[in-house]
Amino acid sequence: AFEGLTERLQKTFNNLRRKGKVTEADLRDTMREIRLALLEADVNFQVVKQFVKTVRDQAVGSDVLDGLNPAQQIIKLVNDELVKTMGSEDAPLNKSDHIPTIIMMTGLQGAGKTTTTGKLALKLKNEQNARPLLIAADVYRPAAVDQLVQVGQRIDVPVYEEGTSANPVDIVKRGLEVARENHNDYVFIDTAGRLQIDEALMQELADIKALAHPDEILLVVDAMTGQNAVNTAEGFNEKLDITGIVLTKLDGDTRGGAALSIRAVTGKPIKLVGQGEKMEDLDVFHPDRMASRILGMGDMLTLIEKTQRDVDEKQAAEMADKIRENTFDFNDFVDQLVQVQNMGPMEDIMKMIPGMANNPAMKNMNVNPKDIEHTKAIIYSMTAAEREDPDILNPSRRRRIAAGSGQPVVEVNRMIKQFNQMKKMMNQMSKGNFNGMEGMLGS
Ligand code: GDP
Ligand code: MG
Repeated sequence: AFEGLTERLQKTFNNLRRKGKVTEADLRDTMREIRLALLEADVNFQVVKQFVKTVRDQAVGSDVLDGLNPAQQIIKLVNDELVKTMGSEDAPLNKSDHIPTIIMMTGLQGAGKTTTTGKLALKLKNEQNARPLLIAADVYRPAAVDQLVQVGQRIDVPVYEEGTSANPVDIVKRGLEVARENHNDYVFIDTAGRLQIDEALMQELADIKALAHPDEILLVVDAMTGQNAVNTAEGFNEKLDITGIVLTKLDGDTRGGAALSIRAVTGKPIKLVGQGEKMEDLDVFHPDRMASRILGMGDMLTLIEKTQRDVDEKQAAEMADKIRENTFDFNDFVDQLVQVQNMGPMEDIMKMIPGMANNPAMKNMNVNPKDIEHTKAIIYSMTAAEREDPDILNPSRRRRIAAGSGQPVVEVNRMIKQFNQMKKMMNQMSKGNFNGMEGMLGS
């Protein structure tokens, strides 16, 4: 997501940084570029206008042009305003002081309500040992009930359903009774959607709300739909007074408009983001981290959290020691590859590392699973001594490894080079050189 916007903003900032002194005309040009970049990313027109005005006023008001490093100060103003536009603070989920906490999931058809219901129930189960119950209140398509039942089976959470013949409000009423009897601490109501907002749907949702008094009404919106997502959010919010937003499909090819507009337009916080189809692909929304990601400064903290979630902690600690002691070898490299393979697409991981997102070297990185298999084949063709001490890999050893792994020698050479780059990068990171913001604002 956001590649186009990131690229344009970085280009603008690079131009600015190349100038020794920044004139008023330079500032005007920069602000025009930022304005165009945001509009092209499908950010709401009013939001763009306000954004540009605020940054310009602050730049002028604080005399940044006369100060030290005006370019970097402007970048910082843009970063801070991005954070503010997306809400400044993290917005935690509401929790009732008596059980159950009731979470009503709303949104258009296909936005990701049912998937997100499963993801969030799993997250609460894993993090708080929660015992959720899911209520199937989308009765318009038999497949919708089946889908929720399947989601429940996958995450081992019970589902209350009555098929498709009963009235959704009655289903919710009986589902809540079951939750009280069973002492479930969370109840999710998976409601129906439509292709567009219509009166009948809104009335049904209002009736469910009136009956259930949800602690949280989450609106699930598809980030790929840009300004439509924002308009939808306004419509739902008007009728239901939602309490939070979940932006889904941020793993896709979205330009950024929804993420940057929806908070400012609706006044309601983005609480969670969906970044994939798997049940684990749901993350807390952090405005500051999202701003770094948009500016291409990497999302180191999210990467660290993702790694912690997916990698055995003891193993991670061992790896950190090796990086610190600079004894990282091919055995560790292959371990890392296997872990990365289990973590999801390599591109996603690499994009979160500061400096990597727009690094031309990215284009040469091994990113597809087939390449990872080739790399593993090459490493498995090395002797134990070679794996532990990559420096001994002379041309004749490389030829032997190539023959053994069925890969051309150039592939072997490329892989060794990549290993050395990774080792160097890790070495730098271990010296504390992995704060993207510092890197960008520092020298
Ligand atoms: P609903 O109609 O609102 O209940 O939407 P669903 O939960 O059925 O989701 C519609 C489609 O979007 C499904 O194919 C989901 O797998 C997919 N989906 C949901 N969330 C995400 C996400 O964060 N990323 C991606 N790539 N796909 C998602
Ligand atoms: Mg659904």
